[in-house]
Amino acid sequence: MNAHHHDHAPKLSRNQNEILSCLRDANEPMSAYAILDRVRKTGISHPPTVYRALNDLMRKGMVHRLQSRSAFVACDHGACDGKFAFAICRACDKVVEISLSDEDQAGLLALAPDEIAPEQVTLELAGLCQSCRPAASA
Ligand SMILES: [Zn+2]
Ligand SMILES: [Zn+2]
Repeated sequence: MNAHHHDHAPKLSRNQNEILSCLRDANEPMSAYAILDRVRKTGISHPPTVYRALNDLMRKGMVHRLQSRSAFVACDHGACDGKFAFAICRACDKVVEISLSDEDQAGLLALAPDEIAPEQVTLELAGLCQSCRPAASA
């Protein structure tokens, strides 16, 4: 039967799949060139191929770009709707995705001054993760 079934996992091309699983395995932000290096063995050998797949994955909400690093990470939740922020450890590059509520998003957009019509929030918090913080002295 060809009835509509609810597609929780959108169909991905082979290239998109390779790049997504590369990012999921890495578990850390990767530049497009680091991704290219990693997926070369699968036959992907041109930067535009990587960029095209990354753009498609970002449009699906399955990959996000860390603006401050020019790097990419797999969505922590499989995919999301674009309301998110990141907390990044400045010592080890651990990245934690933070989901923003509609109110969070609206509050941040409301910070825009009159002369800029806000469209998008890019929010990255930097700090030290638990394992990079010096142990509290007893
Ligand atoms: Zn996400
Ligand atoms: Zn850390």
